[in-house]
Amino acid sequence: EAWRPDGEDERRGAMGPVKVRVPAKVNLHLGVGPLRRDGYHELNTVYHAISIYDELTARRGDTLTLTMEGEGTGELALDDSNLVMRAAHALAGYAGVLPHARLHLRKQIPLAGGLAGGSADAAATLVACDALWGTGLTRDELAGIAADLGSDVPFLIHGGTALGTGRGEAVSPVLARPTSWYWVVAIADGGLSTPAAYRELDRLREAGTAGPPLGATDALLAALRQRDPRVLAATLGNDLQDAALAMRPALAETLKAGEAAGALAGLVSGSGPTCVFLAENGARAERIAAELTAAEVCREVRVAHGPVAGARIV
Ligand code: ATP
Repeated sequence: EAWRPDGEDERRGAMGPVKVRVPAKVNLHLGVGPLRRDGYHELNTVYHAISIYDELTARRGDTLTLTMEGEGTGELALDDSNLVMRAAHALAGYAGVLPHARLHLRKQIPLAGGLAGGSADAAATLVACDALWGTGLTRDELAGIAADLGSDVPFLIHGGTALGTGRGEAVSPVLARPTSWYWVVAIADGGLSTPAAYRELDRLREAGTAGPPLGATDALLAALRQRDPRVLAATLGNDLQDAALAMRPALAETLKAGEAAGALAGLVSGSGPTCVFLAENGARAERIAAELTAAEVCREVRVAHGPVAGARIV
């Protein structure tokens, strides 16, 4: 149980609400290596945080509760299976405090969309509760708890553009020019299960019908050090794309429509079904978004830019 000297409880942490904003991620490069003994695949990925955000507000409370609004409301369980609840329990357990808070999630990142929304919410919860409870963990301690919650969670604390290795949890920032890249994000109706996408890739590889695996990230990392979106476009890639297309053949139409609308490149984000398109600039992105909306190949189209910061108190 939490031990505090008399009166400390009142002074520690934030009294007022703590609001944290956290971005979605796309993988500019998602290289899927062999299946490991622990059931995860060895990944070689470049994460990129984009300006589609969830927002988590943490208030003082006598128990731990979670409410939500926005994407996935009514579908997403708000019990202890929710990554927000799991993150709050994990932090409280690590820091030796009671997991008492009233948490509210405002969700704009679609569920099971390949944009790591659940991981983003877990990252936001760690940052928010750390401030609310005054546990004052270091970034490294938070990253350690984050890694246990999910492979993408450490990156969503960092944000920006970063290399991910291991099962994706080992994150190191990428040296890049301070440039913004503009993305058109095509959100599909319904989600795709990430484990199912990996299983489908394994199946395609066993059958010998998977495309050749992506090579090293060198070309992409070099492109990020330049300012030319055309150069970046030529280096984007995702080993899970064939699997996502096999599970959701209609995504081929979405990808075609984005490229026909003038995108420099299009790819499936993570395990899908969200597709992202690189645009030459912000104005071009708006035009592509309008055409893509008119083509009726997805549920919703948004324009975003990246890189943006990870989970931050606002
Ligand atoms: P990734 O790109 O990391 O594979 P994703 O974007 O495809 O993830 P998420 O929305 O992160 O998918 O979550 C996938 C599943 O995780 C959901 O279908 C849901 O069952 C579970 N989950 C638990 N908590 C949350 C949460 N707060 N937000 C979204 N999903 C959650």
